Amino acid sequence: MQSVNRDQLIALLEELEEEGVEYIENFKTKAYSGGQSEKAAILNNIFEKIKSCKKCTLGETRTNMVFGEGNPDAKVVFVGEAPGREEDLSGRPFVGRAGKLLTDIIEKGMQTCRKDVYICNVLKCRPPENRDPIPDEVEKCLETLISQILAINPRVVCALGRHAASALLNKGQKLSDYRGRIHRFESFPVVVTYHPSALLRNPNLKRPAWEDVKILLRIAQGEDPDEIGTW
Ligand code: URA
Repeated sequence: MQSVNRDQLIALLEELEEEGVEYIENFKTKAYSGGQSEKAAILNNIFEKIKSCKKCTLGETRTNMVFGEGNPDAKVVFVGEAPGREEDLSGRPFVGRAGKLLTDIIEKGMQTCRKDVYICNVLKCRPPENRDPIPDEVEKCLETLISQILAINPRVVCALGRHAASALLNKGQKLSDYRGRIHRFESFPVVVTYHPSALLRNPNLKRPAWEDVKILLRIAQGEDPDEIGTW
């Protein structure tokens, strides 16, 4: 299975536009012309549209919005839950303890530079006291995440933890129900694995997480996800 082609992407963007996503029009004709600089411009365009967002109360309490960072032309997009304290202070995703572990997974495990993947979260603003995202916040933030993924057009998306998985896929399942098979978000293959914070709390989960990461790597390297089956 290939990443979506340009026509499919534009069709998806048009659907989003019909559903009321406001900022599609500006970039849909430029979307996925293949170049890193076009994708960077699209991401920047999305950021400019949302940087002062106050659609939910997290817009009042955040220090910085944490939009996401990495290669606009990444083969892998990692999606976490929401910024924590250090991310809120710095405006960058996954820079605290969990972020250090995610960086190790990418750099030591996948042998890939962190700057060559793209890292973002479902919520772009920190929930107070790191509480779980509430459905209204997820709903309001989701169009940004969808647009980011469509703009990047990666080979594979990695959902880190249950909240990322349930935002992208069917809601309400346990993490164990999602792991071990490839899901689809739009046409993108999605691999679900443990959130790095869960790995910090329970190091026994690192071994099964590594099984997930190996699948992620295979898809990132061009293997057809439809050929992979379960693990
Ligand atoms: N946890 C997340 O889900 N995202 C971050 O950016 C940091 C910690």
